[in-house]
Amino acid sequence: MVKHTDPADAAATGPRVREFLSRVPDYVPGKAPVVPDGVTPYKISSNENPFAPLPAVVEAVVATASQVNRYADMGASELVADLAGHLGVPAEHVVATPGSTAALVHVLQAVCDPGDEVVFAWRSFEAYPILATLAGAVPVPVPVTADGRHDLPALAAAVTDRTRMVLLCTPNNPTGPALTRTEVRAFVQGLPPHVVVVVDEAYREFVRQADADDHLPLHLEFENVAVVRTFSKAHGLPGLRVGYLVARPRLAGAVRRTLVPFGVGAPAQQAARASLRPAQLAVLDAQVDEIVARREALVADLRAQGWAVPDAQGNFVWLALGPLTADFAAAAEAVGLSVRPFAGEGVRCSVAEPEANARLVALAGAFVADHPGLAG
Ligand SMILES: *Cc1c(COP(=O)(O)O)cnc(C)c1O
Repeated sequence: MVKHTDPADAAATGPRVREFLSRVPDYVPGKAPVVPDGVTPYKISSNENPFAPLPAVVEAVVATASQVNRYADMGASELVADLAGHLGVPAEHVVATPGSTAALVHVLQAVCDPGDEVVFAWRSFEAYPILATLAGAVPVPVPVTADGRHDLPALAAAVTDRTRMVLLCTPNNPTGPALTRTEVRAFVQGLPPHVVVVVDEAYREFVRQADADDHLPLHLEFENVAVVRTFSKAHGLPGLRVGYLVARPRLAGAVRRTLVPFGVGAPAQQAARASLRPAQLAVLDAQVDEIVARREALVADLRAQGWAVPDAQGNFVWLALGPLTADFAAAAEAVGLSVRPFAGEGVRCSVAEPEANARLVALAGAFVADHPGLAG
């Protein structure tokens, strides 16, 4: 047997892994709060749906459970057909993935060669720089404006000969504002047609701004546009992992070739299908309306306290706390609320149960009273 020695790795005793992984930031999941005695804890750190899964969706999962000795349908063809019908697009345009995070992974794999640049607003979805780096690409973050919006002229100016993709997050997680379809259309028109624009619409159901809740038609106008959506937020199924990408056949086909076979399990496929039936959609719409009403009340209460809350079009609000971020997160933890802090920048708080929202308002009021400099 040949003895392999690597002088550069002489000190290493374990398996050799790729050095660049040490430069990939960790994804920080929202955590559940540590419960103070006698207090009901609320996790408002992951933008989850506070409503329990619908009975018809649970039934679909249970019915599928007895067949999990079999592989699921590889292309999720029934789900893709249902989605195509629901969206009014050809099935060829739809790629089902295990969560929309996987849709992002695969579109990056399909588009980027090592060293290619991926432009996105920042702060935005924390997975973007992680996934771009893992794909071998170079992340190019472009600061959001003071009110948490994408700076579209700056994003366009950041596009170079090496740019292969621009990621747009609307509404933007964690800051809240949405992009209109008119704005995105003008942005795409100004780009070279080989640069792929991925519009991440994870929170589109919660949008109440005109012209901002549906970017899907752009993929018909532009072959370089892909739209990414998920069943994790408004549909409340993050534990099942199902999302999808919509693009014209050239891009959709390239994404399909990168998929891990059988990525979306049968329970996830059938739960998503059940969730798209008219009776279930009607219930979900009412739940989303309720969350939006709670969001509007929460934003109004926070602004009345003096907080400069950016336009909130998702199921979360952003408090730009700067250096007080960790203090606020600790104060929240102490009252049984786990928020999502971004060190030195701010906290994202999900719109949740009425008691959780009320507790957040009380906490924020006390905090701003203690730190009058925060009031905008
Ligand atoms: C939650 C979220 C997603 C998707 O999550 P999945 O559970 O992987 O579908 C995608 N983009 C943004 C901006 C999100 O906040």
